[in-house]
Amino acid sequence: MEVLAGQKHKHLEFTLVAVSELSSPSVPPPSTPVIARFSADSGVAELRFRQDSGFIDGFNVNLGTAQLFKLGPLKSLCISGSSDSNKEEESRDFHSAFEQWQNEDVTQGMHLPNGAISDVKSKFDNKIEPSSAKMYFHYYGQLLHQQNMLQDYVRTGTYYAAVIENRADFTGRVVVDVGAGSGILSLFAAQAGAKHVYAVEASEMAEYARKLIAGNPSLGQRITVIKGKVEEVKLPEKADILISEPMGTLLVNERMLESYIIARDRLLVPKGKMFPSVGRIHMAPFSDEYLFVEIANKTLFWQQQNYYGVDLTALHGSAFQGYFSQPVVDAFDPRLLVSPPMSHVIDFNEAKEEDLYEIDIPLKFVASVGTRVHGLACWFDVLFNGSTVQRWLTTAPGAPTTHWYQIRCVLSQPIYVMTGQEITGQLHMVAHNAQSYTINLTLSAKMWGPGAEQGGIIQSSSCKLDLKEPYYRMSQPQPYTTAQDQQPLQLLQPQDIPIHTDDLEEPKLLQQPLENSGALLQ
Ligand code: SAH
Repeated sequence: MEVLAGQKHKHLEFTLVAVSELSSPSVPPPSTPVIARFSADSGVAELRFRQDSGFIDGFNVNLGTAQLFKLGPLKSLCISGSSDSNKEEESRDFHSAFEQWQNEDVTQGMHLPNGAISDVKSKFDNKIEPSSAKMYFHYYGQLLHQQNMLQDYVRTGTYYAAVIENRADFTGRVVVDVGAGSGILSLFAAQAGAKHVYAVEASEMAEYARKLIAGNPSLGQRITVIKGKVEEVKLPEKADILISEPMGTLLVNERMLESYIIARDRLLVPKGKMFPSVGRIHMAPFSDEYLFVEIANKTLFWQQQNYYGVDLTALHGSAFQGYFSQPVVDAFDPRLLVSPPMSHVIDFNEAKEEDLYEIDIPLKFVASVGTRVHGLACWFDVLFNGSTVQRWLTTAPGAPTTHWYQIRCVLSQPIYVMTGQEITGQLHMVAHNAQSYTINLTLSAKMWGPGAEQGGIIQSSSCKLDLKEPYYRMSQPQPYTTAQDQQPLQLLQPQDIPIHTDDLEEPKLLQQPLENSGALLQ
């Protein structure tokens, strides 16, 4: 059906110059202008058309299954079909194949000359296990999970402030919201004066975003929701600015940063702006006897030799390994940090997607206190490098807690350090096809004291973790008062934590002290 857009009326009725139905040539196009009416009278959201004589039969468009394409400034094409799920899948595959064949890069991997089918999968489909993607988008398709993010006021408030304080970056600009979810960032961009926002969302949440945006018509008229993956969708124009919230725990979990980078290459004008534009992973060794004992104790169950007459000890080793392979997610007291943190910077403007397949961070710290080191604590922040205001969204310990909390990799063999002793090591992360990372951590204590320069490593401990299988510990009480078995630590305040970056020459704007990276919108 071809629809020519006309003047706008209230009650979501539009005068159209003409409509015609493509699927049924026997229905002649109406000769007089018609009214297009958006309604939910029959219980489903529909687009219907009427003339003076009443509604035109056969022209009902179910908005749950229809798609609208803008052919030009005046012409639109609405494709309406049944909700037969097999057909939907076939149709999706057809669209994906069409887009891929339009892209020149599909010729890569083509086996000529015998006409073998080329790989028409998108970059996303090529690297992500379908079952993982299905669960992932199912999760984000539910309002309760979007609500959880919206109710993280540190997160959402910082985005809001960063956008509104930097109106100049949005006013009159074309914006793409990468992974729009509920559409909240698209609505913020429209509030900041965007000319048009394309809200790209792959999950079923796209339908809710459409509803939310339709419920805010003054902003919504400048927003188009596009259901699809940013790796696959085609937009009528390039964006001047990308906005997105692609951060997972440890910044990179969920592997959505890669989608953000692909969106940059596919959908953004050269040198366009990215909101956010930089991410930093911060890391420091920590000491937490409670946490260590809590995890170690879980494995004790498998040391029973008479569990209803069964010896469980054969599985103790595996259970031990299993518990220590779970990164711990909770909010911890920054006084547990054993040294000032170091950071690894990812510049979203410059990074290549492949850079995120394997991340290797050499570690080097100097212990501020003599203690037992139980592992490595990590958190991240991202920068909105607006032309008016630069704002950091931080997930640091001691800063207002976010839904990301912090993450800790716990060593099954703690290491002992003395004040001033150097701790070296490596954090090596390899992306896997379940949208997460395998983490290999090694921490070593260097020889300390007189003659240390000649000495090497005196203790070393390693562990392997799966970022996909975290231990969410937030609901537990946080007994971080001094206890007998916890060595009192010299207090490290968050503002005492200078961020130093060893692996990238830091531009000035990155050298913000942590206390200025507060994310609260007051
Ligand atoms: N922008 C929203 C939602 C952030 S959560 C907000 O800030 O509240 C990330 C969203 O990105 C999820 O809804 C998820 O479904 C979507 N997403 C993840 N990868 C995507 C991809 N490759 N293409 C399109 N959407 C994607």
